[in-house]
Amino acid sequence: MRIILLGPPGAGKGTQAKSMSESLGIVHISSGDLLRDHQARGTELGNTAHSYMQQGLLVPDELIIGMIEERIQLPDAKNGYVLDGFPRTVEQAKALEEALEKQGETIDRVANISVSEEELILRLGGRWICRQCQKPYHEVNSVPRKHGVCDDCGGELYQREDDVPEAVSHRIKVFAEQTTPLIRYYTEKGNLVEVDGEGRIEEVRESLLSAVA
Ligand SMILES: [Zn+2]
Repeated sequence: MRIILLGPPGAGKGTQAKSMSESLGIVHISSGDLLRDHQARGTELGNTAHSYMQQGLLVPDELIIGMIEERIQLPDAKNGYVLDGFPRTVEQAKALEEALEKQGETIDRVANISVSEEELILRLGGRWICRQCQKPYHEVNSVPRKHGVCDDCGGELYQREDDVPEAVSHRIKVFAEQTTPLIRYYTEKGNLVEVDGEGRIEEVRESLLSAVA
């Protein structure tokens, strides 16, 4: 079973991908984790990616594609995988398809977790983090006992630049612009399934599992 999981920032994609991989007995391949792993191991790929990021540049497609191609050929991926964070563009989707074709394989399902913009702003715009121990809090879902102070270590809570409401709106807009063509691409291929991402984590998990079954 080869699955691609799509969804906007704040949709809980990482959590769902991990839980899906456990339920289905396949590997969870997160492009972000993979990139961090390459950097930590100091591979050629990791070092090259790092030099781009240090200059504030986007890591080029070829590097990301190369990294994913290598990963999906490892023995533990033979049973299948959930791709999380890749592909992000139609170009990446086509490159993935070509790589799979060489091995006579295809993607079985592309699941898109959809969450309304209002809900995403609420989820992402309410995030606060402890400056000392990095524990995450949320204005609605996980409020600290004392306003602005970490329950565990007494550290000061702050909002990441990315998580202030204006930045959140912008992130959602950019994401929608990037992924609309990708969603259209997979819809035309006929393997896209939409999953409502607004319920509880458990509910979304069940919907995802039945959507890809
Ligand atoms: Zn703390």
